[in-house]
Amino acid sequence: MNAAVGLQDRMREVESRIGEACRRSGRAREDVNVVAVTKYVSAETAVLAVTQGIRHIGENRWPDSEEKWRQLQGQAVFHFIGSLQTRKVKDVVGRFDYIHSLDRLSLAEEIQKRAAALGIVVPCFVQVNVSGEASKHGMQPEELPGFAAALRPLDRIKPIGLMTMAPLESGPEETRPVFRGLRKLRDELNAREAFGEPITELSMGMSGDFEVAIEEGATWVRLGSVLVGRESAG
Ligand SMILES: *Cc1c(COP(=O)(O)O)cnc(C)c1O
Repeated sequence: MNAAVGLQDRMREVESRIGEACRRSGRAREDVNVVAVTKYVSAETAVLAVTQGIRHIGENRWPDSEEKWRQLQGQAVFHFIGSLQTRKVKDVVGRFDYIHSLDRLSLAEEIQKRAAALGIVVPCFVQVNVSGEASKHGMQPEELPGFAAALRPLDRIKPIGLMTMAPLESGPEETRPVFRGLRKLRDELNAREAFGEPITELSMGMSGDFEVAIEEGATWVRLGSVLVGRESAG
């Protein structure tokens, strides 16, 4: 089976599963966006995916995504989804259209500085550690109101939503409370006008649990292996 056919099959299968999850939960299909996470595949496969209609590309390291970005800039929207070191901000801001992993003030200040120098505004998701797992990146829920207030003067950062990763090695149903918790946090933060403007987005759900995430309100799912496959260990 050639690569394009395999990809088309996976895209069709994922589309049908997203459609089912939307139907089950009474949601509109167009309220769920798909980021194709290409970190496990070559630039060639990423280009093929965009040719087949993928619009959003997600990557978690700049060096690994450089070739894909060079080939696809202007044709795809780039999402930075990995944990971001402050000294790597210069590689990411100006190239990636969205950052899903804003998790501390020092990072926000660096993004602000870089974006101001470039004259741009960066839409960001605040990453939250809903499950409280020690190994997880992300802010603790109780830190969010203070963090939201601290972001207000940073005019080059546009907070648009929250992002979380489900605990590793748990089944999709065990992750449901995590996704539900993220949605509740978003709604509570909006009720107290924590960010000024309401935040609307929820970036949650990966290959193993995206249907549950959609049922719980995900507006962005980040799909790697189930959608574009996996060509290398990584
Ligand atoms: C790798 C990765 C994904 C996609 O993982 P799959 O399980 O292959 O869908 C999603 N989000 C983040 C933050 C990732 O690092």
